[in-house]
Amino acid sequence: MASEAGAQRWDAIVVGCGAIGASTSYNLARRGLRVLTLERFGLNHELGSSHGKTRIIRLAYYEDSRYVPLLRRAFDSWRELESKSGKVLLELTGGLMMGKPEGELVTGVLGSAKAHGIPHRVLTSSEVDDEFEAFTIGEDMCAVHEESAGILFPEECIRAFVDGAREAGCEVRFGEKMNRWRSSESGIEIESSNGTLTTDRLILCAGAWNSSFLGNLLPLQCERQVPFWFSSNGQKCFTPQEMPVFIFEDGPSKFFYGIPDVGHGTKVARTHGGEIGEPDNMRREVTEEDLAPVKGFVEHRLPMLKGPPIASTTCLYTNTPDLNFAVGMHPDDPRVTVISACSGHGFKFASVLGEVAADFATERKTKYDLSFLEVERFRRRSSS
Ligand SMILES: Cc1cc2nc3c(=O)[nH]c(=O)nc-3n(C[C@H](O)[C@H](O)[C@H](O)COP(=O)(O)OP(=O)(O)OC[C@H]3O[C@@H](n4cnc5c(N)ncnc54)[C@H](O)[C@@H]3O)c2cc1C
Repeated sequence: MASEAGAQRWDAIVVGCGAIGASTSYNLARRGLRVLTLERFGLNHELGSSHGKTRIIRLAYYEDSRYVPLLRRAFDSWRELESKSGKVLLELTGGLMMGKPEGELVTGVLGSAKAHGIPHRVLTSSEVDDEFEAFTIGEDMCAVHEESAGILFPEECIRAFVDGAREAGCEVRFGEKMNRWRSSESGIEIESSNGTLTTDRLILCAGAWNSSFLGNLLPLQCERQVPFWFSSNGQKCFTPQEMPVFIFEDGPSKFFYGIPDVGHGTKVARTHGGEIGEPDNMRREVTEEDLAPVKGFVEHRLPMLKGPPIASTTCLYTNTPDLNFAVGMHPDDPRVTVISACSGHGFKFASVLGEVAADFATERKTKYDLSFLEVERFRRRSSS
């Protein structure tokens, strides 16, 4: 299937080599296409959305149960990548979703679990206290425990995709930036920091930078996030054997999450509520102001985590207005595929979204029902 044209013409160019671009490159190259991947920074750099040592994966999706079929496939694909790469990419710990019984999190998880027959247990606050020493939850709260949840190791996942893509013939260029793209009858022309390239297919996986290539197609908003790591001081209750990954709804629109200590401390963060800005100008230093809400949460809900954080990082969410992904062909040119999969929850899907991106790029359709993630939905809404 490889292109017969000259060296600068490609069957597919993937822009971005974070979680989504790396998986897309892997999937396209394994289908026999001649693929070039452009990444403006280095492998596993810390300026985008895919770094930070750990990510949560779970199945009973409170955000929207329509994600569950994709998640089932994502779990299988992560396991396939593990066996192909010989690396540990996913560790199951179970997941604990805590909050008021009538809250968005608990009702959403239960709705999803019931709709898709996902095994789960509902625990009272005292059952949580008895079983999971790390947490203190309110008497008016409960928890849903899901066995299948766990931790992905993002840097390892991306490295495994890149290695696999290269093995299948993909050329991955770090330190090369796409400046602009243009459709023409004969192909898609790309001007990169290294010259002009032509491709039959373009797949935009540029995370928070996607908006600069999409005009008014997607109203994307880039949000700064700051996760922290706290010393577990050798306490067993923070190990992955005893502590599940968790999400905690600690009040209306106040969601925190955490990941047990896999060697770097226990990770805790607030989700959303961060500064909005441009990805190239985002504030990278971490201040006491960033720490305050997380510190308050830890003191209240994880009181055995003592002392100041031992590490932190800044990371970017790329939000759509409804916080669902935008995935599919560009409405103005079906040779261009757009994968904007973040809104704070995209990593776990990377393994399946690479397959979906390859489906759109090669067949202009996919077997998955992604109607709720259509890229054109916001443009249509704003013009109606
Ligand atoms: C703090 C934090 C915690 C998270 N926790 C979870 C979680 O627990 N579970 C979960 O499922 N998801 C989680 N997410 C979301 C998830 O990590 C993201 O959805 C996912 O990593 C997005 O990957 P991406 O490839 O779209 O973006 P990125 O990783 O940012 O990749 C985009 C890449 O494109 C490159 N690029 C941009 N412009 C150009 C250009 N012009 N030319 C060439 N290259 C370019 C960038 O340098 C970048 O490397 C979290 C996100 C954050 C920030």
